[in-house]
Amino acid sequence: MKIGIVGGGFMGLVLAHKISKTKAKVKVFERDIQPGGLATYHNFGSFIWDRFYHVILPSDSHLIDLLEDLGLEEKLRWRRSMTGYYVENKFYSISSSKEFLLFPPLSLLDKFRLGFTIFYGSKIKNWKNLEKISAKDWLIKIGGRKTYEKFWSPLLLAKLGKNHESVSAVFIWSYITRLFKARSSAAQKEHMGYVSGGYKTVFDRLKEILLQKGSELVLSCSVVKIVPDASGGIRIFYNNKEEHFDKLIFTAPLSVLGKIASPDLFEISKNNQAVEYLGVICMVMITDTPLTPYYVLNIADKEIPFTGVIGMSTVVDLEETNGEYITYFPKYATADDPFWSLTDEELEVIFLKGVQKLYPDFDKKEIHSIHINKAFKVQPLQVLNYSEIIPEIRTRHPDFYVLNTSQFVNETLNNNTATQHVNHFMTNFNIELQTEL
Ligand SMILES: Cc1cc2nc3c(=O)[nH]c(=O)nc-3n(C[C@H](O)[C@H](O)[C@H](O)COP(=O)(O)OP(=O)(O)OC[C@H]3O[C@@H](n4cnc5c(N)ncnc54)[C@H](O)[C@@H]3O)c2cc1C
Repeated sequence: MKIGIVGGGFMGLVLAHKISKTKAKVKVFERDIQPGGLATYHNFGSFIWDRFYHVILPSDSHLIDLLEDLGLEEKLRWRRSMTGYYVENKFYSISSSKEFLLFPPLSLLDKFRLGFTIFYGSKIKNWKNLEKISAKDWLIKIGGRKTYEKFWSPLLLAKLGKNHESVSAVFIWSYITRLFKARSSAAQKEHMGYVSGGYKTVFDRLKEILLQKGSELVLSCSVVKIVPDASGGIRIFYNNKEEHFDKLIFTAPLSVLGKIASPDLFEISKNNQAVEYLGVICMVMITDTPLTPYYVLNIADKEIPFTGVIGMSTVVDLEETNGEYITYFPKYATADDPFWSLTDEELEVIFLKGVQKLYPDFDKKEIHSIHINKAFKVQPLQVLNYSEIIPEIRTRHPDFYVLNTSQFVNETLNNNTATQHVNHFMTNFNIELQTEL
């Protein structure tokens, strides 16, 4: 049996790896010149690391199991990490439960309400009700306006940019759940991990195993049309060629699905509401000295153009980055954000002004290089009643499937959830393959 996968990002390649364990032959089509999609790598000059920042949490059990399955468990490294807040021109650490509850910008009563929100949120099991209320309204209702303005709003802004008020309470609930899992239960302190060599190590290994199994990964290949075949299966078109597959799985963003797949194959939204994606514009700075002690610094300052600072070198050993420090400055933006029309040079000037405001003592002579990396479709916005507007994995056609991050209805965007999503899909797909092979 021949199975095609559209999209050679993390999800597409993990899926290909799992399917290639059966008797089926897999062919993955990736538009880019290298695999990995949003989790891909970038040449920063004297080293290669992830184009965007990635960490693994101790609670990422599905992802850690996958790394073991790929024989990469010995390449997994863990470090104690710190999270900071920049509020009213001051930096605060919120890296342990104690620091979290001592957060100085909040009064004693507000701290109590913050603690209560987190405790209450962590006890909620039925997320469906949270879909009906916005994150803002829910957080104010449970924790009060001050806690929202001083604590939650900056965090939402850092994660979602100006659209942060349109997401439902599910977004913040899943975020709380994931964030607090990063703290080891014994010390209640944050720990984060990475694979030595970054995600390039993971993609190189996936590619190697796929090739050993006789499966294929075709790069620089954009699939332009997907149609049902009259005799069964699915036909796709790319690079002036066409090819037939017994089954086809689509893993790219929904906007691509709408453009290339025949409308009789699938139904995206039951009420015609489109899924809106957030993109990210990210300046990456390579320096001789460290800029921040925090892995994540959430920023509550409208004068600063980026929404967070990610001190990757606080987690990743300097040996991995040729002794240089790597810091990411992301800004999350919707499609209509004027920042998309700026050139890289213009973005660099604006972002550097922000760096100077945040770290007035920073000397530009410390900079080795600056890189502007962008991704237009990153994260589907989990708006009110989000689970009602996304496509089902099973489509209208028995041989066509959609499996992508838009289907994360009660989880944040991360590779642990992506792996879990693939595992869940494989449970049913394996049964189908066994009956058909
Ligand atoms: C800034 C940032 C920070 C992140 N931090 C973390 C983190 O700390 N931890 C974590 O676990 N996760 C993190 N993530 C999330 C992680 O990167 C995603 O979960 C993962 O990359 C999603 O993979 P995917 O394959 O589902 O999607 P994508 O990576 O979007 O893959 C889709 C692929 O389809 C390809 N494609 C599109 N159209 C076509 C076409 N017509 N034909 C062929 N191919 C096509 C694209 O080129 C792409 O490679 C982060 C993401 C970002 C952007």
